[in-house]
Amino acid sequence: MSTLTYKCPSCGAPLIYQGDEQVLKCHNCGNTFTGEVVRKVSEIEENETKQSSHWEMHDREFSASEAARTKTFSCSSCGAELITDETTVATNCAFCGSPSIIPAQFTPGTRPEKIIPFKVSKAEAEKSFYNYFRGKQMLPKMFLKGRNQISEIQQLYVPFWLFSCKADADMTFNGSRVLTRRSGQYMETITQHYLIRRAGTLDFENLPIDANDKIDNDITETLEPYQVASSIEFSPETLSGAMANRADVSPEICKQRADSRIRNTTETVIRNTISGYATVSVRGQSISVDEGVSLPVLFPMWQITTIREGKSYTFAINGQTGKLTTNIPYSKSKFFGWIFGIAASFTITALIVVAVLLKMGLVK
Ligand SMILES: [Zn+2]
Ligand SMILES: [Zn+2]
Repeated sequence: MSTLTYKCPSCGAPLIYQGDEQVLKCHNCGNTFTGEVVRKVSEIEENETKQSSHWEMHDREFSASEAARTKTFSCSSCGAELITDETTVATNCAFCGSPSIIPAQFTPGTRPEKIIPFKVSKAEAEKSFYNYFRGKQMLPKMFLKGRNQISEIQQLYVPFWLFSCKADADMTFNGSRVLTRRSGQYMETITQHYLIRRAGTLDFENLPIDANDKIDNDITETLEPYQVASSIEFSPETLSGAMANRADVSPEICKQRADSRIRNTTETVIRNTISGYATVSVRGQSISVDEGVSLPVLFPMWQITTIREGKSYTFAINGQTGKLTTNIPYSKSKFFGWIFGIAASFTITALIVVAVLLKMGLVK
């Protein structure tokens, strides 16, 4: 017999090998286990709560020739840093509409790799603004009387990072089932405890993380999804007629946000594969992100502001799909609705329920 001491998976007391039955027995709680179960349990416990992630961030600089073909503006009213091509004239800030926008020195920073061109025209964006107010009984009264006017309309590119990866998860759970049966004049309750193990891989494709703090995340997230397949290679000329906001959230922060969204989604998907237990709780999880690639991109957006009773309200329209969102309260639009713009396909590569670990019989 080896001198290695295995601990009882149930109570933690040392297990003693019973040569005659070829099992490991716990003299504390009375349970017996096969060698295979004990080995699997210790393997799982070694593996608990490991996390790793490897990302290749495409964080490149503008070339000297691109920088020379790019005009930079900064807004002294809201602090936005905006870029456009040589031919576009900026008269007011694409964010706040302020005329206090001045040409500025080009500053190095992340160069977008891809850009999704505008498909929705200015006229179409304006039309969907006016259509929004038709037949909306839920709107606050002030929007129902008189004509709603556009006070500003801005054609804007918003910076995002797109994260694609494989997330390998190996999770363990404690589960229980309760059986009740009559035994003579007693009711017998048996609680069975399970150690459940699930392993699987999730493919994340183009998970968008907003690299812009100037526009409310509730707006940008509600505008998703964008069809990345129709994006084109970025060059300063692709900005013609519009302004792009320079990313003001660092790639490092975006990576952390992506990691946490990927882990939460993976955990939820894996957890949802388990059913048929009275209780389930997470015991350990190891999630590793592999083959991670992240690309900086620009997404098109029309931003419309309207002023009512001295207050400004924002409309944002996805410049590719025409999807509209607004921060007007009480509307039926899902402004604060969390829409998970993730194209995640899920494959369980291995699905293992380790074993019924122990049965505890309780009388009465
Ligand atoms: Zn025990
Ligand atoms: Zn501004």
